Amino acid sequence: MITAGIDVGSTTTKAVLLGETGIYSYSVQSTGIDIPEVAERVLRESLAKVDLSFEDIDGIVSTGYGRISIPFSTKTITEITCNAAGVHHVFPSATLVVDIGGQDSKAIKMDKEGRVLQFAMNDKCAAGTGKFLEVAAQTLRVDVEELGKISLESKNKITISNTCTVFAQSEIVSLIARKTEKEDIAAALHESIVSRVYGLINSVYPEPKAEMVLTGGVARNIAIVNLLERIMGRKVLVPENPQIITALGAAILARKIN
Ligand code: ADP
Repeated sequence: MITAGIDVGSTTTKAVLLGETGIYSYSVQSTGIDIPEVAERVLRESLAKVDLSFEDIDGIVSTGYGRISIPFSTKTITEITCNAAGVHHVFPSATLVVDIGGQDSKAIKMDKEGRVLQFAMNDKCAAGTGKFLEVAAQTLRVDVEELGKISLESKNKITISNTCTVFAQSEIVSLIARKTEKEDIAAALHESIVSRVYGLINSVYPEPKAEMVLTGGVARNIAIVNLLERIMGRKVLVPENPQIITALGAAILARKIN
């Protein structure tokens, strides 16, 4: 059986093809404005990587904010449920997940079978999301992929007092004007995101004793991982490819509906 999961996020759209032996292939593309088009493109790209065609797929589950706009999916399932299923597959004993994506962040408490017990989500405000880092990176004129590494060079602790992305951007501009080092600004920005995310974690799982997993594109940011580990006082598990875990969960759930 071959199933597909498609996760249409606000920033990237991901497809995962799942077969009997695990993940066959995956693909990640920018979401853009035409959701049905990008969803089809990302799926066709994953199929082409393993020489398969649309007809070879036994079921497609779509998830993410754009999930209802995909005409060819068998079923739609929320990203919370799919994320938990994907994490449970990779780390079966984890019971807490934090997912930080382009424009939202969420904390999910699960049971040992990967079922969602409780979740908290921030999708109203860019603070505490990848968008905050993207805007900050543009203002600092560095790549968002480099921002985490740059922040690790910080030697002087400063704080960014505005959590709102727009006000934080003005604050960054005035810090640059006062010749504050880029790495110190970057470190303060990461502290700000992690303290927002810590609030989400606390609302679903105060003082978690469980294994915690970080997913979403922002899990590729080493400074976020380090700071979360420091604030939580425990190791944070990061899957090899944290951005595709929700699409993987969708492909896993597609097997169950067949
Ligand atoms: P969504 O699913 O909400 O569309 P993603 O999970 O794809 O979002 O996450 C996108 C965010 O991930 C970007 O805003 C960016 O901050 C971050 N990101 C993506 N790739 C990297 C990377 N290589 N290093 C650091 N951050 C990254």
